Amino acid sequence: MPSSPLPRTPLSAPPHVRTSRAVVPRGHSRDIAAVLIPQLRIQRRVAELAAAISADYRDQELLVVALLNGTVAFLADLMRQMEFPLTMDLMGVSSYRSGTTSGDLAYTKRLKVDVRGRQVLVVDDILDTGKTLTAVTRELKALGAAGLRTCVLLDKPTSRSGGFEADYVGFVVPHLFVVGYGLDYAEKYRNLPFVGVLKKEVYAPETPE
Ligand code: 5GP
Ligand code: MG
Repeated sequence: MPSSPLPRTPLSAPPHVRTSRAVVPRGHSRDIAAVLIPQLRIQRRVAELAAAISADYRDQELLVVALLNGTVAFLADLMRQMEFPLTMDLMGVSSYRSGTTSGDLAYTKRLKVDVRGRQVLVVDDILDTGKTLTAVTRELKALGAAGLRTCVLLDKPTSRSGGFEADYVGFVVPHLFVVGYGLDYAEKYRNLPFVGVLKKEVYAPETPE
């Protein structure tokens, strides 16, 4: 597990999200079965995460390393509420090809910033098996990071294999494939302002006889 000797500001336990009664907006209702986390609920939790991270890192010259492409919405909202000077860089990691199951990890973009001696916060959209963050934190440690913590919007603990836990977690979600707020299926649905569940026929179309 990544570690940092810095103090940790208490953050309320991540809420376990089951379903929401929010109606799927008409423009998205063709492919989205349900809203799992409504926009307002995301915004409130992102503010809590940003407040805890700000309290922990405001004097640390933090380097935020966000993983492409799923963090685009989360990162934009989170970092604008971090009220202290920081450095940000993006790392391209791809573990899902076009399906909904985990594949091998490939680096599609390397960092520009030198991480040696830095306090690093890795931001990802969702922690599933833990393979991605295990590999990325190992890589950043090898590159010389002085301290490492991880922040994820969503945690799906049911499929975890190696015991990896993130330091800052937005929500705990059930064992479902989720999209929206940056998360995709085949590079689609990243623009949803909420986290939703895809209709089964979108990723498992019935095969004609
Ligand atoms: P892990 O390496 O922890 O198994 O998977 C992490 C990556 O898999 C995430 O960064 C994300 O890109 C992808 N992923 C895992 N679960 C989901 C999901 O439910 N929906 C989407 N869109 N991506 C997922
Ligand atoms: Mg990802």
